[in-house]
Amino acid sequence: MSQPKVTRPKGTQDLLPPESERRRSVEGVARSVAARYGFREIITPTFEHADVFVKASGETSDIVLKEMYQFRDRAERELVLRPEGTPGVVRAVLENRLAVPARLYYLGSYFRYGRPQKGRQREFGQVGVEALGEASGWTDAELIAFGVDFFSELGITDCRVLLTSIGCRECRPAYREQLVGYLSVRRPELCPDCLVRLERNPMRVFDCKVETCKVAVADAPKPRSGLCNSCEEHFGVVRQALDSRGLAYEIDDRLVRGLDYYSRTTFEYTSSRLGAQDSLGGGGRYDYLFEEFGGPPTPAAGLAIGLERTMLASPPTPEPARRRLAFVVWFSEAELEHAVKLADRLRAAGIPTRLDFDALGFEKKFKHQVKAADSQGASACVIIGPDELAHGVYSVKNLETGEQTQVPANVISEHLRATL
Ligand code: AMP
Repeated sequence: MSQPKVTRPKGTQDLLPPESERRRSVEGVARSVAARYGFREIITPTFEHADVFVKASGETSDIVLKEMYQFRDRAERELVLRPEGTPGVVRAVLENRLAVPARLYYLGSYFRYGRPQKGRQREFGQVGVEALGEASGWTDAELIAFGVDFFSELGITDCRVLLTSIGCRECRPAYREQLVGYLSVRRPELCPDCLVRLERNPMRVFDCKVETCKVAVADAPKPRSGLCNSCEEHFGVVRQALDSRGLAYEIDDRLVRGLDYYSRTTFEYTSSRLGAQDSLGGGGRYDYLFEEFGGPPTPAAGLAIGLERTMLASPPTPEPARRRLAFVVWFSEAELEHAVKLADRLRAAGIPTRLDFDALGFEKKFKHQVKAADSQGASACVIIGPDELAHGVYSVKNLETGEQTQVPANVISEHLRATL
């Protein structure tokens, strides 16, 4: 085939069948697990005012600084293709005065201008859940359990849960001072980005992938070392709730996550099947985000899971050679109208059905249709010829076995439903 004149933008992907179907089935699992935990869907715009993310995700986060698809519309509004879900959800809940507590989930496309690689695209899918107005550490543990349930339903068995607490408004200032003190003497080892982070949000240095920065923070005081009593207590409840569910987790004190709005609990799911981008998803508590948007104090926690990485980590589902599809095949134009009516009857009975109209233009009409049915992966041909019409039957050819049987016309739907 010749090279097409137009191609997809870098970092995006085309999902063709059967991958597109696999993706929808993963989304179906996400929906059903979310519903089981009492989440209802929220659908928010794909683009928002830039402020929504600058305020929430944080002026110092990589997402805001380097990865946003930001543009000005024709009326000079600063807009952003959403890089993540939570800020839009909180904005929508406040703007529409949705009563809180509320449990919401979302599914959609998100956009980040990063360097594309395996498991990292510029447009990617996420499912996220948000427990708004819930303060307890038991909620944090239940959110973690939601993700584990979702992964295990998809057969992902190697998922690890990493967990820590990064403190609250009360304890963070003192910890921050301690960390800045520690890192200030190591300035020469820090990358230019981390020097900025040191001023604006020093905890983010833990997230840096630059080797010298990694060394510089290796022995730095970790956020959990500075927790106040109430954060300690909250973290204790999260751990107790996970233990009581029998849910395994590992404490990872360097897990600060890439977004500014988190407080207290943060967690991440990883899979060894993913390579360098090994995070399947993550989340945490964000007790101050509502206030950040001018709303009332509202405790909340949530998580987001990447759908492409989930698919990468899932065991492959072998594609069956044949799919649930019947082809109605006619001998000559005399049976065509009958064939179309039968196809509609089968469709009404829920059986995916096709016809090959283009066979009309060929001399060997019957052969053309059977070939088409075969190449489309149909499992059966329902054949109508003069003999069948005369006897009130259809011939059903099983394309897998080649076997052919006659089925009374009045029970054809039931027959196909039972055999396809
Ligand atoms: P985050 O919002 O950064 O916590 O990301 C949550 C999850 O979304 C990650 O664990 C990934 O599974 C997925 N994700 C984030 N960024 C990308 C990306 N650029 N490409 C594909 N998946 C991503």
